[in-house]
Amino acid sequence: MRTLSGWGRFPRAECRVVAPKGEVELRSAITSASSAIARGNGRSYGDPALNRETTLLLRHADRILDFDPATGRLEAESGVMLADIIATFLPRGWFVPVTPGTKFVTLGGMIAADVHGKNHHKAGSFGDYVESLELMLADGRVVRCSAGENPELFAATIGGMGLTGVIRSAVFRLIRVESAFIRQEILRTRDLAQTMEAFEALRDRSYSAAWIDCLARGRNLGRSILFCGEHARVEELPARQRSNPLAFAKRNARRLPPGIPGFALNSWTVKAFNQVYYAANRSGVKIVDYDRFFYPLDAILEWNRLYGPRGLLQYQCVLPKRKAAAGLTMMLEAVGRAGTGSFLSVLKLLGPGRGMLSFPMEGYTLALDFPANPRTLGLLSWLDAIVAAHGGRVYLAKDARMKPEMMDGYPEFAAFRKLRRAADPSGKFSSLQSQRLQL
Ligand SMILES: Cc1cc2nc3c(=O)[nH]c(=O)nc-3n(C[C@H](O)[C@H](O)[C@H](O)COP(=O)(O)OP(=O)(O)OC[C@H]3O[C@@H](n4cnc5c(N)ncnc54)[C@H](O)[C@@H]3O)c2cc1C
Repeated sequence: MRTLSGWGRFPRAECRVVAPKGEVELRSAITSASSAIARGNGRSYGDPALNRETTLLLRHADRILDFDPATGRLEAESGVMLADIIATFLPRGWFVPVTPGTKFVTLGGMIAADVHGKNHHKAGSFGDYVESLELMLADGRVVRCSAGENPELFAATIGGMGLTGVIRSAVFRLIRVESAFIRQEILRTRDLAQTMEAFEALRDRSYSAAWIDCLARGRNLGRSILFCGEHARVEELPARQRSNPLAFAKRNARRLPPGIPGFALNSWTVKAFNQVYYAANRSGVKIVDYDRFFYPLDAILEWNRLYGPRGLLQYQCVLPKRKAAAGLTMMLEAVGRAGTGSFLSVLKLLGPGRGMLSFPMEGYTLALDFPANPRTLGLLSWLDAIVAAHGGRVYLAKDARMKPEMMDGYPEFAAFRKLRRAADPSGKFSSLQSQRLQL
């Protein structure tokens, strides 16, 4: 038995954990349980990787099985960490086609949440690069799924939050890069309209994401710093890096001191941080290493403890493009009025989605972090109402508290349920989240 949580440390639950080694032990753990869920590295924020009866820890299944240096086709077990994929293949000139904002996630977690990155508007989500996967079903059978073999199960498993079975391994493609660096462009905007105009004007950039000052109000509402990026070519690097463009210094991550009080992040500290951060980031271009560009938060290990013992709630929604300006304005006004202040607020442009339970849809996605407390829960219900009224949806990988009605934002939810029932008639694969949302 272990007390487990997601990255938000809310909720926590006493779970029986099983760490099966190899196919036989995994099959026995699945077939002998009446309820189970897979867990990768626990970087989803809420309760999708928690099951009180059986939480299957899969991180040790972390072998790289095959790699084709001619095409970038990589086959690996589902517990392999993104950080290890990068450390192994970036020095050889390969990078992942899509990455979330932390490299401490597993391949299985990236597929099950169908993660998106700063390039979704151009490159789609991680699932778009998965060629095939091996799935262990509730009865212990292992099936291969791809666009040609069990295509419906394949579609439902990408973004399916572990509810169709346990992904044992997957084949996906890496992309070629010339260097370990990014040519970063920064653009500071005055308000939401200018931020959205900048996203559209720079939509040919491979990567784009904006830090948004969620406490700015009135005519500054929605002011942001937009970070765009391209994989740097060798000739764009400073002379000293050109001889070894794929080399990068390993960053020493820092740990927070113990005993951070829950009030360390409050509307005053967030406001002060936002003022300084906005002023410090001026428009311009520079070369930065991939770690700093994609994973700034990974520089501080366990930064989730900043929110104190009660934990944090992340809220990430997407609004369809034509309703995004109105909806985002209402949401930012609600956050400003609540005065809670989100320490990290990120706005991204998304392209068309894959359907089923995959989160992305064409539009704008806003992610906000708040301390977990009753006041935040009230604010988030209010944000849910705005999202629903504007035809949007909330990201399951970040959710810890929404109500089943919010699944109306996923138009293929009924089709997903049907497929899931066919693959797992007794509903063995379930998480605290799937039970709460009646998935
Ligand atoms: C700092 C930070 C930044 C983030 N940025 C982004 C971002 O930019 N974009 C984005 O899309 N997400 C982002 N995320 C969310 C994160 O990428 C996803 O939640 C991801 O699923 C976590 O992977 P994990 O291995 O930790 O999975 P877990 O959290 O352990 O599990 C997540 C889900 O995947 C399922 N699962 C895990 N392994 C398997 C398996 N082998 N077979 C079947 N199902 C499995 C679990 O059952 C669960 O439903 C971020 C998270 C953090 C903490």
